[in-house]
Order: sequence, then structure tokens, then C-alpha cells
Amino acid sequence: LFDTQPPQWELDDAEHRRIARVVLSSGPAGEFDYFVPEEFADERKPEVLAQAGRRVRVPLGRGNRPVVGYCVEVAVTSTGGRKLKPVSAVLDTAPLLSPRMLEIGQWIAEYYLAPLGQVLEGILPAGVRGKAGTRETTLFSVPTRVAARMTRLDLPEKQAHALKILAASSKPLALKQWMARAECTSGPISALRKKELVESRVERIDTDPLLEQPVARREALELNPAQAAALETITTALDRREQSTLLLHGVTGSGKTEVYIQAIEKVVSFGRQAIVLVPEISLTPQTVGRFRERFDHVAVLHSHQSDVERHRQWKRIASGDVQVVVGARSAIFAPTPHLGLVVIDEEHETSFKQDTAPRYHAREVALQRTRMDQIPLVLGSATPSLESWHAAGRGDYQLISLPDRVSNLPLPVVRAVDLRDQEHRKWNRGAISRPLHQAMTAALADGGQVILLLNRRGYSTHVQCPACGFVLKCDSCDVSMVFHRQANHVVCHWCDRVEPPPTHCPDCKDANIRYGGFGTQKLEAEVRARFPDARVLRMDTDSMRRPGSHEQALDSFRNGEVDVLLGTQMIAKGLDFPNVTLVGVVNADTSLHFPDFRASERTFHLVTQVAGRTGRGSQGGRVLVQTLSPDHPALVAAMQHNYQAFAASELPEREMLNYPPFGRMARVVIRGPNDQVTLAVADELAGKIRTAGAGTRVMGPAPCTIAKLRELFRYHILVIAPDVAALHKAAAPLAGKLKLPEGVQWIVDIDPVDM
Ligand code: ADP
Ligand code: ZN
Repeated sequence: LFDTQPPQWELDDAEHRRIARVVLSSGPAGEFDYFVPEEFADERKPEVLAQAGRRVRVPLGRGNRPVVGYCVEVAVTSTGGRKLKPVSAVLDTAPLLSPRMLEIGQWIAEYYLAPLGQVLEGILPAGVRGKAGTRETTLFSVPTRVAARMTRLDLPEKQAHALKILAASSKPLALKQWMARAECTSGPISALRKKELVESRVERIDTDPLLEQPVARREALELNPAQAAALETITTALDRREQSTLLLHGVTGSGKTEVYIQAIEKVVSFGRQAIVLVPEISLTPQTVGRFRERFDHVAVLHSHQSDVERHRQWKRIASGDVQVVVGARSAIFAPTPHLGLVVIDEEHETSFKQDTAPRYHAREVALQRTRMDQIPLVLGSATPSLESWHAAGRGDYQLISLPDRVSNLPLPVVRAVDLRDQEHRKWNRGAISRPLHQAMTAALADGGQVILLLNRRGYSTHVQCPACGFVLKCDSCDVSMVFHRQANHVVCHWCDRVEPPPTHCPDCKDANIRYGGFGTQKLEAEVRARFPDARVLRMDTDSMRRPGSHEQALDSFRNGEVDVLLGTQMIAKGLDFPNVTLVGVVNADTSLHFPDFRASERTFHLVTQVAGRTGRGSQGGRVLVQTLSPDHPALVAAMQHNYQAFAASELPEREMLNYPPFGRMARVVIRGPNDQVTLAVADELAGKIRTAGAGTRVMGPAPCTIAKLRELFRYHILVIAPDVAALHKAAAPLAGKLKLPEGVQWIVDIDPVDM
């Protein structure tokens, strides 16, 4: 593909030469050696010193195309013979990556079979790589003279919409915010700027909103005996000065966070730092506030931060001023100079796995990082991943239990509503059964709040013709289109294709085309119809598009301005509202029958988590789970709050098939514009993997669950091996160069969490 053989440079005194070993940010994988000219080897000029962890510009290929790469090593070799090209420029005045981070990058590259250059590019936030040294941003607003004649402007639809959104905003908006609210690209916006219909001004950026609100300092709580024992175990691990992993299994509300905080207070007293990873969704002012109440110097890192803000946080952390970093997945790469402890809260969350390359799992990276630093790793969860639970069972992790809620409040009573029951079916054709309706009536009458979980957004989840059976599918993807009533269109949830809703069957022209299936929008309509006096709020990615809307929604729920909060899994996590006396799971079967070996585990997590949202106050709480499979072991265990029972039913099934946590899995996805060609490539690849991996089980190629996505046909191969070494051996053919037909691509995902 690429010609990486450089033309030869003649050098006179090449007895001892400094060699810069370089990996490219994009383009060909592998390490390339360049020689370091005098000017970049002078220790007295540190701004332009070629050094591991800095980026360099180097010539590539026969044409000497200038490319950017990371210097990963500077070595002195005494080869007289080899002739190398010189480094053209040193791009950073100081290393962006410490030796430790380079080591972690190397591990990720090897473990996840990703090119090191791409991994390093993924580890470093864009703001750190770029020249985001300023803390300024451009804010847009609509001048009064334009606002006054807005209705008379003759603008293309998108521009008119974008302008309307900006005019409606109470504050000037940054470009990203504006684009998100108007749901548009930069096209209409630059058009508006050119027509001078908007004004812009440059403003200094303030700190992250998560760090903005003042918080009062708080004293440590007095731990209950179980918490004290947990802290003692972690303290002992801190004193050992070697890596250990502790799995803190505590029901929701058992006081895990207080244990983390007190452990971190110890770490800070040694002059070291801690990293606390939380799922992106629970990275709220409430969560961050709990740390800020107890530590003077808290940093946050997450994906919604501006590049500038990330860079600022990164520099604060690297300088050693920060005691605790609270962040989402990528905060595992925070450049803490003296890391003393890593905590992963809700460690079972799948969002800790990155779904684009490099496809790392923050838990695995944390394991490596704490091993390199010889420090403890604490994994906390009410519903641990089976991977962690199994590791604890084997004795690899130390298990700590917090069996009871701090307040001694009982866990809520959970009951199944069997939807197969004729009685419920006769009652209505809606989503809310009679028992749920009655429970809602009672809860609302007592002044309680209600949470309803339905893990599907939109109004009708499928559009079908009863005459011919036609189902409206996306033209580009093999998935049903979902009707959204507010926007009055059908949309593909995978590629966002939008079409007008059909009134007739596009196939047989029958006029009775049906909009079936329940999404959150239809549920909202049903709740409003049944409980006209209740104040209802829907929370899903459609209603929460505006930055900050998620927070606003939770605030109004917390303040009692909302009676019924309904939404997708977004509402299931981490919220602590004492006034919630009823939780309804509208359809537990949606996730149960997903074609993924983790479907039961997911369902168990979801039901347990959402059930944990109630019974946090003095009025207690109850949970109703509507389902067609009330006897499913995962549901039964979730309803009894019995994690052990769930693990005991699920682990043997996994073991029988050698699925994780027993075997290790890799998933290879092959996609391409032509079905036959793609399948042929997949077949060939599967053959190579079978040859390379004796002792591994290779399944497929089979069409992916979504067999076509964005015009591309997709096949996957699953590789199951007894251990990592065997997995890597089988995957070896993927590391070499493969000649692929036009448009065909493949990706490999080690330890996949989504099928
Ligand atoms: P978890 O993280 O396990 O869900 P939290 O740490 O959020 O639990 O604790 C739940 C509630 O109990 C919080 O409001 C917290 O302030 C309170 N809490 C935790 N530990 C104690 C304690 N030892 N004494 C009194 N209240 C506590
Ligand atoms: Zn689509």
C-alpha cells in the first residue's frame, strides 16, 4: 500500500548517531527510525530537543511527504551502515506524554491490536495536542436590528431555523452549543455570518460548570462498621505498596462513595493523587460536588468539555496541584505525577469501553496502570460485572461487601406484572398495566414521585402494513424506522436518516399502515392522558439535546416540580431522590431478548439500578416490573436484589460456552459496499484466523445483528480463546497487511461489550 522505503541519505561521520524512533499519528503502522540532526540534539536548547513523548515532523516515503508522528524513543546506535532520513522538526516544547503514559500506550497497542501512533493520538485530548493555549471562545448572538425584522428575512430553511434558535437563546452561544441546539452543521452558520445577520464577540472561557458552583466544606462522616471494615481493607492495600484490586460490592445507598472519599483522604495525606472514574452520565455537579466538599483541588475530565478547558485541566493535573481527578473513561489517562489510587465507580458500566479505535476498556487500562505504579485499584458496584465477580471468586481480586443501606432503609419491594395475564391484556392497549396504573395513582395521591423506565425512544418503534406485512426500514441500514411524533417524521436511530411518515404502505398502497410499538414519546402521551394533573417530564437523548438540559431536568425533579419522570436508561443511573416512592419498568423484555450473550446481565443491571432509585426516603418505595417473562432467572434475581443468585445462574451458562469471563473474546467486523465481496473477505479472514489459532473457537462469519449499516454490509467473526495469549495468536493474521478490495474495511475489537 505504502512505500515506506526511504531514499538513502549519505552521511559522513555516522559512527554514533541519535536515532528517533517514531510512530505516525495516522497512516502506516509500525515504528520508523530517523536520525536526529545536531540542532535537535542539543540539551541546551530544550524547546527543540528530540525526546520521547514529543511530536516530530518527518519525511515519509519516496516523495518525502511531511507527516507528524510521536517520538517514542531516542536511542544512540552505532550503526555506520544504515542510512536514515533526518527529523525535520520538533513540534512540542516539552513532552506531551510521560514515559509511563508511553508505556501504557504500548500496552494498549499490543493488547488491543491497534497501531501505537493511533493509540497515542487517542490518549491525548485534542486540546493538548493542538495549540489550545488560549482560554477564549467566540460567542454568537443576533443583533437587535436583525431580530426586529427576522420574520421578513427570506432565508433558506436551515439558516432560518439556526437564526431562530440563536435569537431564542437567552445567552450568546458558542459555535458548538449553537450547532447542537439548532441540530445543524456549520454550513448554515457560516452563511449567516457572511450575510452579517449574527454578531460575534470573543470571550474568555470560565471553568467547567461542574467546578463552578461554590460548595461548602464538609467533614468526614462517621463510618458504620461495614464501611469502616471496607476502609481498613483499602488502607491495608495502600500500605502494601503493591498492586491489588479490590471489588467493593455494595448495594445502592450502602455508602461506597464515602468509603472512596476517606480512602482518597489517606492517599492525599501521602502527597499522592487519586483518579475516580464514573460513567459519563453520572458525572453531574452532584457527584463532583461530593468530592469538592472534601478536597480543595479537584479536576474534572470528560468528553463534553471544550478543548481549551480540557487542556487547562490537563495542565493543572500534570503540575501536581490536583488531589483528585473525577472523570469519565478517558480520565484514566490523566497525567497525575504521583498516582496513589484508582477508583472505578459503577465498574460494570459498558460505557467504560471505548467504541471507536483504540477500543480500550478503562478497567483493563486501570489494571495495567495500577500494576505499573504498584498501587491499589478499587472497583465499586452494586451489580459487579461478571468479569470482576469471577476474578474475585478466583481470588485475583479481594472482595469487600457493604451488604446494607447506610440508613438501614430496606431495599424496595419489587413485584413482577405478568403481561401474559389476560386481565392485563383486556384492560387496555397501552403500555401501562392496571397494577401499574393503580400504583401510580396511589403514589401520586400520597405526594410521591414516580419514575418510569422504557428503554426505547421515539413514539412508535415500528411502522408496519397489516395487509402485506411490509415493515418500514431504513434505506441505508437493516433496521426499522422509528416514528417521532413531535418532529413528525420517521427516523433511523442508527444513521439518523429522516423521512416524512408514510400514510400508505409504500409497497401495497394499503391505507391502513400501522404505527406500532411503544417508545418514550408514546408513553409520555399515555401518562399525560391517564394523569392529566401530573407534571410529566420525559428524559431521553431526543429531549435532552441541549447542553445542560439533563441537569436542568434532574434539578426540577429534585425540587419537586415534576411528578412523573419517564425515560430511557438515562434515568436509571445514580440518581438519589428520596421522594421517589414508585418505579415502573414498562417493558423488561426489550433488553432481555437482545441477541447478545450479555443480554441477561444487562437486564439484571438495568432493573437493579432503576429499582435502586426508590425507597431512599422515609416513605419507602416499591417497584413494578412489567414483563412477558416473569420467571427469567435474571429478572427473578433482580427483583429479589440478589446479585449472588444472578451470578450463580449466569456463570455456569457462560462457562459451558467458554464465554467471558471464562474465555476471552475478540470480534472482527468486516464491512463493505458489496454484499458478496464483503462476505468473501470475511470468509477468507475467518479461514486465516482458524489456521492461526489452534485451540480457539472461531464462529462465523455471520451477518451482524444489524446486517447493513449506512449502506455497508456487515459480517462478524467471533473468536473465543481460553486466554489472552491464545486470543492474540489467533488474531495474528489481523496484524499483518491484508490486501482488501475497494471499500472493504475491517475492525477488531478485543473483549467486545457490544455484539
Ligand atoms: P453509594 O455510593 O453506595 O450509592 P452513598 O455513598 O451515595 O452510597 O451513600 C448514600 C447516602 O448515605 C449518602 O447520602 C451519604 O451521604 C450517606 N452516608 C454514607 N455513609 C454514611 C455514614 N457513615 N453515615 C451517615 N450517612 C452516610
Ligand atoms: Zn439508517
